[in-house]
Amino acid sequence: MENASFDVIVIGAGIVGATCAAQLSATRRVALVEAEEAAGYHTTGRSAAIWLQNYGLADAQALTRASRDFLLTPPVGFSDAKLFAPRGAMYLATAAQEPDLRAMLVGSQGLREISVAEARGMVPAIREGFAVAAVIEDEAADLDVAAIHQGFLRVHRGLGGVMALRSRASRVERVGGGWVVETSGGAVFRAPVVVNAAGAWGDVVAGLAGVAPVGLVPMRRTACIIDPKPWDVERWPMMHDMGDSWYCRPDSRTRLMVSPADETPDTPHDVQPEEIDVALGIDAMQQALDIEVRRVERSWAGLRTFSPDRGLVIGFDPGADGFFWCVGQGGYGIQTSPAVGRLVAGLVGGRVDADLAGVVGMVDPGRFRRI
Ligand SMILES: Cc1cc2nc3c(=O)[nH]c(=O)nc-3n(C[C@H](O)[C@H](O)[C@H](O)COP(=O)(O)OP(=O)(O)OC[C@H]3O[C@@H](n4cnc5c(N)ncnc54)[C@H](O)[C@@H]3O)c2cc1C
Repeated sequence: MENASFDVIVIGAGIVGATCAAQLSATRRVALVEAEEAAGYHTTGRSAAIWLQNYGLADAQALTRASRDFLLTPPVGFSDAKLFAPRGAMYLATAAQEPDLRAMLVGSQGLREISVAEARGMVPAIREGFAVAAVIEDEAADLDVAAIHQGFLRVHRGLGGVMALRSRASRVERVGGGWVVETSGGAVFRAPVVVNAAGAWGDVVAGLAGVAPVGLVPMRRTACIIDPKPWDVERWPMMHDMGDSWYCRPDSRTRLMVSPADETPDTPHDVQPEEIDVALGIDAMQQALDIEVRRVERSWAGLRTFSPDRGLVIGFDPGADGFFWCVGQGGYGIQTSPAVGRLVAGLVGGRVDADLAGVVGMVDPGRFRRI
């Protein structure tokens, strides 16, 4: 593998690098390099695993909707697991939050208002008097993140792609009309195109390549698992309050994942949860739901990485030949992954699928280069 030549080098094997590698491998020789021992160790392995079509800005929503069919009916052989399992998502509003809930309904798709009594029929733990209004997104679904991620990696390998783990790109240099990527293990990869799919490290990788940063901000988000007994939560929808101070969703049938929906600016590293964030999330959730929490079984944190305008950043850098960005996936990297891979393959190949053409301008990295 040392000193090998490829058509594309993808840096980072989280969900974003994996979908890019899978799609690009159909027509190109692709090397996927990953710093860690296991692909998916960082943000990809730490998500809430939900598909919500009204989440994020217009670019994320379009890519989420364009990913639905793939997740619902993946290509034969992609995975034996069910990738997309209907769950539903409920939004609760207190009196002060009701205007936000009404604003969310405008221009949304698949959201319907239900009475608070109906909401309490679905989730009897909702405290009487907490909510004045409720909305449900029936199509929201649980995602099998590991199966989706492994499916993309399998496609990449099946098409002859190379994956190098424990291989941090430590030198990224433009030499003689192409890119040279040298890894921490000493291997050298050459290709005319390099795809930066390094998540929270996106600007670090750009810096190695001498490319100006786009201003990515990794934001810490915390989650924990509790035992909600005696409630039977298996069929509960995911739940949010409109104040963005908590959300929760059933996990492994009998448990509840709770998050304070925190967004704390951080640096790219192996982020760990802070006890205070876990406590804040549980406290906020308990104001809405009558659930006793005796013990936190497990907690974790991950970095959701945003660009300055919170839009995704997908496309060639206008100032660096062959340097392609695919970063800024924020809180939607899993649910947008099938369409993002397709978009990247289309942009690299110069022919974008018609259903994704409207997204190209929204995600263009050039928007951060204009004065
Ligand atoms: C608590 C939480 C809940 C979430 N919930 C959801 C959800 O419900 N639905 C959803 O769609 N999304 C959700 N997300 C967001 C989603 O997880 C991310 O958008 C997605 O995982 C980002 O994927 P990525 O591949 O960009 O990043 P990562 O998975 O972090 O992958 C980047 C990879 O690049 C590698 N790397 C970095 N630098 C180098 C280098 N120099 N050389 C080689 N490799 C390098 C890293 O080791 C890493 O493996 C959530 C995130 C969190 C934290």
